[in-house]
Amino acid sequence: MYILTNEPEKEESPLLEEYWRAALRLTSGRFSAVIMETVISPMSLISARSGYFNVMAPSPFVKDTAEMRYGRILQDALQTVTRLPYSLRILSPEDDLAEAESGENEAPPPIHAHKKPQDKKNEVGLNEKYVFDSFVRGKSNELAYAASVAVADRPGETMYNPLFIYGGVGLGKTHLMQSIGNYVAGRDSSKKVLYTTTENFTNEFVSALVKNTNQNFRNKFREIDVFLIDDIQFLSDKEGIQEELFHTFNTIYDNNRQIVISSDQPPKDLRNIEDRLTSRFGKGLIVDITMPDIETRMAILTKKAELEGTPVPPEVINYIAQNVHSNIRELEGALAKIIALSLLMKKEITLDLARENMGEFARKEERREITIDGVIEAVSKHYKVSVEEIKGKKRTQTIVYPRQVAMYLCRKLADTQSLPLIGRAFGKDHSTVIHGCDKILGELEAGGGKLAATLAELEERIRGR
Ligand code: ADP
Ligand code: MG
Repeated sequence: MYILTNEPEKEESPLLEEYWRAALRLTSGRFSAVIMETVISPMSLISARSGYFNVMAPSPFVKDTAEMRYGRILQDALQTVTRLPYSLRILSPEDDLAEAESGENEAPPPIHAHKKPQDKKNEVGLNEKYVFDSFVRGKSNELAYAASVAVADRPGETMYNPLFIYGGVGLGKTHLMQSIGNYVAGRDSSKKVLYTTTENFTNEFVSALVKNTNQNFRNKFREIDVFLIDDIQFLSDKEGIQEELFHTFNTIYDNNRQIVISSDQPPKDLRNIEDRLTSRFGKGLIVDITMPDIETRMAILTKKAELEGTPVPPEVINYIAQNVHSNIRELEGALAKIIALSLLMKKEITLDLARENMGEFARKEERREITIDGVIEAVSKHYKVSVEEIKGKKRTQTIVYPRQVAMYLCRKLADTQSLPLIGRAFGKDHSTVIHGCDKILGELEAGGGKLAATLAELEERIRGR
């Protein structure tokens, strides 16, 4: 069981909160008031076990910033107050908490390594947790499920090659792809399955280039029976990597081996990806996954509760299913929170308990989407610099500064916090975005009170409050 909360309440875990506060007291003076306010205070200590202090940050942005710049200080402080020689691990709501916390016996990663907590994965990138059996079917995913099963059953032999699955965040694409891989690998150990995220594929390719081992990189794909590549929308603008994927694709396809691709959009809507690639993506079967209806949401919650081994009354299941309709990851998060609370507070899981504690999730639902363009527009108005100028190439200070502010706010607030995507919106490289954010953080660190006020004001406006 794990504890999931972004807003620790007193009764929940007084000891953890006490430790955290003591650690922050110990570090006071090391951070400027602004950094304290924006980065440090929004985090909380959610558990301390198996060699780790697990600290939850409210967003990937805060997580990265804290990890990179303040991880060492925070770890030292926590070690001093608790007298435990644990390592600090910062998580964000997007991390898989259950998995992060189950990496029980691993040696703690060094703090500055920027490594995500290790998943329980075998060498082909598969995670045993995702199997067809635990996937709940409904109208919203029926076709994607059926196609996945068909492909897993006869990889490379159906018309569904490639199988292209698309849909929004947290709707089960990765779960299905992994299920295909696990099914094939489980049934016939001679079959070579390779699951990779697009980001990983890119990184490996780049590192092969640098080390001059691209031939090895290529050879690896010649022997693959089932190639699963996740989140293809992150294929960068760079021609080199698209060229490489094109060859990989052809190698596997021409050998009549199976390819499965996922994306947040159908092939025809994928921008910045060459036509020769997107047209190949569409050669087999394209299926979508959407948000499940309420009955399916209830079935999913029932299944998850079963897997947790915790009985949850139907009215609570119903209540959560009614109130969370953004995606399945959130649905799971809401259930996990209620279960964790009931364990911690030693209270039964009742409708009242759910009602009292669902606020955060219900609020999130009402929240409107924050887009990169929305952020740029607000910044443009505030600094009286046109959107075109912010996105443009001019390097005068009156434009560069608002541009950096906009990059920082995109990274902090936008629903898409991916650096390459933000970079693309500005017509810049992702390293320019990192640099921009660093500049702004640097100024905040130096105690930029006026900037902090401006940022707060902009933030309010962007959130539409
Ligand atoms: P995506 O890759 O589309 O962003 P994931 O596959 O990571 O989404 O799914 C998010 C979470 O929701 C995972 O924990 C997954 O197991 C769960 N999930 C998604 N769809 C289903 C489903 N139909 N039945 C059970 N669990 C699901
Ligand atoms: Mg996914």
